[in-house]
Amino acid sequence: MEQFPFIPASKVKELLDPKKLIDIIEDALIQFSKREGVQQPVRSVVSVPKHNGFFGVMPAYVEVGNCLGAKLVSFYSGNIDKNIPSHHAVIVLLEPSTGVPLVMMDGEVITTLRTAAASAVAVKHMSDKASKVLCIIGSGVQARSHARVLIHTRNFQEIRVWGRSPVNLKKCVDDITAIVGEGVRVTAHQDVSEAVTGADVIVTVSFANEPILRGEWMKPGALVCGVGACRPDWRELDDHVMQHSWVVVDSREGALKESGDVILSKAEVYAELGEVAAGTKKLPPFNEKEKFTVFKSLGMAIEDVTSAKYIYDLSKQQ
Ligand code: NDP
Repeated sequence: MEQFPFIPASKVKELLDPKKLIDIIEDALIQFSKREGVQQPVRSVVSVPKHNGFFGVMPAYVEVGNCLGAKLVSFYSGNIDKNIPSHHAVIVLLEPSTGVPLVMMDGEVITTLRTAAASAVAVKHMSDKASKVLCIIGSGVQARSHARVLIHTRNFQEIRVWGRSPVNLKKCVDDITAIVGEGVRVTAHQDVSEAVTGADVIVTVSFANEPILRGEWMKPGALVCGVGACRPDWRELDDHVMQHSWVVVDSREGALKESGDVILSKAEVYAELGEVAAGTKKLPPFNEKEKFTVFKSLGMAIEDVTSAKYIYDLSKQQ
């Protein structure tokens, strides 16, 4: 191969419209849950114990969208101490009719925003339409992307951000204030229970590997988007949250292999988000909810390749 186009992060960022991405991810989730014309094995993960890192390979084929490709992703929770981002990724797309490689692009921006877009689909279908208070547990990259995308889903008036380090927390609150604008109150919290109390939607985006969110702090009917804890022995959500919730996942196979919150709590998986979005699995009406709802997100290759295809098609029009 002599030449192979590469789309850098700056270009992906310029082309990705968060609102459009919510629709793309919703369609991808629905396609996946129908199990028609979609192939996506659970990701293969190699651990790098010496450096506390993980490397994942995530291929997928989506016939309807004419997308074939794979993401290579690494996550190293210790990078923060070296001032290096914890996640790195590249995505390669192939021409489905011939298998010829088409393009390689940065996968970090897509990982960041497609994850928030999947949470946005959960908020759209599973939170109270009158939700006013969003709580974000974590103050890293995903905290910012979730604020950027979720602001398009409900009329949030307050965003509470929890962080461990006061310095990182302040930076995150300042960044989120700039993202969402003056109309939304953004507050900093170092006590999780204070941040969570009364919140309508709670997003957990930390690198915690033990439960950080306790059900005893949450109000009935609250929606949790559990985004971190992507390893079978990691937790963010305690047993109270998991056992008093309608548990909805992106992929049943993925959740039963990779989610410590699902596996270790022995909570029953009620549905996939694609089934809820398509209306083939119903949740009880909002005002009758005594339980919580959890969307346990692990991230899927089809989210990456469909987002990448959208970017590739846009880049060709320029
Ligand atoms: P970042 O490294 O940017 O941020 C991580 C955050 O977690 C920081 O606020 C950090 O705090 C905090 N943190 C680190 N260790 C702990 C701990 N032991 N207890 C509590 N908080 C901790 O990561 P991202 O924002 O990119 O990712 C956040 C999570 O989301 C990760 O678990 C990641 O694997 C997951 N993820 C999930 C995806 C999905 O599709 N479901 C996709 C991408 C990421 P401090 O600032 O104090 O260091």
